[in-house]
Amino acid sequence: MIPKYLYKIAQKLKDSGYEAYLVGGCVRDILMEKNPQDWDMTTDARPEEILAVFPEGKYENDFGTVLLPIRLEKKEGELKGQLQDVIEITTYRSEQGYSDRRHPDSIQFETKLDKDLERRDFTINALALDLTQENKIIDLFGGEKDIKKKIIRAVGEPSDRFKEDALRMLRAIRLSAQLGFKIEEKTKRAIVKLAGSIKFVSKERIRDELIKILASDRPAEGIMLLHDCKLLQYIIPELEQGVGVAQDRHHIYPVFKHNILSLKHCPSKEWPVRLAALLHDVAKPKTRKIINGVATFYNHEHLGAKMVAKILARLKFSAADQARIVNLIKNHMFYYNVGEVSAASVRRLIVKVGKENLKDLIDLRIADRLGSGTPKAMPYKLRHLEYMLEKVQNDPVSVKMLKINGDDIMRILNIPPGPKIGAILDVLLGEVIENPKLNVKKVLEKRVKELNEFDLSELRLRAKEIIEEKREEDDKKIKREHRV
Ligand code: ATP
Ligand code: MG
Repeated sequence: MIPKYLYKIAQKLKDSGYEAYLVGGCVRDILMEKNPQDWDMTTDARPEEILAVFPEGKYENDFGTVLLPIRLEKKEGELKGQLQDVIEITTYRSEQGYSDRRHPDSIQFETKLDKDLERRDFTINALALDLTQENKIIDLFGGEKDIKKKIIRAVGEPSDRFKEDALRMLRAIRLSAQLGFKIEEKTKRAIVKLAGSIKFVSKERIRDELIKILASDRPAEGIMLLHDCKLLQYIIPELEQGVGVAQDRHHIYPVFKHNILSLKHCPSKEWPVRLAALLHDVAKPKTRKIINGVATFYNHEHLGAKMVAKILARLKFSAADQARIVNLIKNHMFYYNVGEVSAASVRRLIVKVGKENLKDLIDLRIADRLGSGTPKAMPYKLRHLEYMLEKVQNDPVSVKMLKINGDDIMRILNIPPGPKIGAILDVLLGEVIENPKLNVKKVLEKRVKELNEFDLSELRLRAKEIIEEKREEDDKKIKREHRV
């Protein structure tokens, strides 16, 4: 499982008079028989000495690390030398002073492996493996035993280690979600005590760890652990407003628990869809109203979309990720009922949500249902929706699919480019969505002349009426029926 080139690199350092070990997460993964994400090697050789042994290496001054490009051995059916990768070789080091509670003020090169292992965060990450001595493991802190017992334990005094670098609190929870390990009691207590120091960690790093938790095999456990460790209130406090907020009808769980269970049951492996599942009902506490003795949450999807846009911007998610997740939240209440919803309505749903997001939206609906604790006969409904989507898939749902384009309109009406052309196309699309049989060049040409009688604002209003408002009418049905 350990690639041959790593043995060669370690042996070459050794032959040049230095020590060399695999170290950190990759050793942990090897002992767990998992494939490491990346390979880290540590040595007593100084960066310039490493470079003297490997002139092809590159010195990364910021991190004091030498990046060594490697050519992976030829695999069956692959071109030779096609795969390129790097391994990081780092000189033994210790770290001093953490005045910003996140980074050491200075680092110092060391000559002993022990010093390098001491600075690492958890016992399971503080193991070294000697490739030149039959893969002997150097384990100064009981990391091997902790791997067997599935425990995440800080190296040394947990409070001290989290005071040095607050990011380690998130790393503990992320590793727990990824590996299925428990955080040892004393380590966990230190996180609870120091949770507030998460403010010293940049939003970008918090976001990255959150993404790893969501993408792990235990995303819901990871978020619950953030909650139990008192960290969630600093990351997404809006979620915690749902704790204990009771719901009626289709739900047996309060809002917070329902959000967590939706994440747990989300069929998608993609973290943005999972994050949408976690956040989809985030506005319920704010929209809750008792009407005739029943809890209602009118418009929680729209307020939710706004709240989620703020949450994601605050956590520095990319614009594309923000748009994708907000779109899912805004549309998660879409109405679909077999026999009741027309093909035109399904086409309008496609226009509103975007073809590429439909699968995610259905996954979100499944997550929502399974997370409600009272799963109804949804699978049939959703299979039917999938069938309908298939059925209308070749129908026109975008201006591009119309049998007429902007140039045609300019020619027919003898007008220059301008906003009116787009507005006419939008009205035509709305009409064709209602009735795809109208998507015939001759018919559209005639209709263009009729529509030319209207001015721009009338055309825009008309387009809005046929696409957006009709879809909203469709969705209002669910509110009548389900009082949400
Ligand atoms: P992954 O599977 O995500 O690569 P990892 O444990 O290997 O997990 P890396 O970020 O690759 O994490 O870091 C490599 C090693 O460096 C860790 O195993 C740990 O020994 C050490 N390390 C990383 N970040 C910290 C930190 N904030 N504090 C102390 N040690 C750290
Ligand atoms: Mg790693």
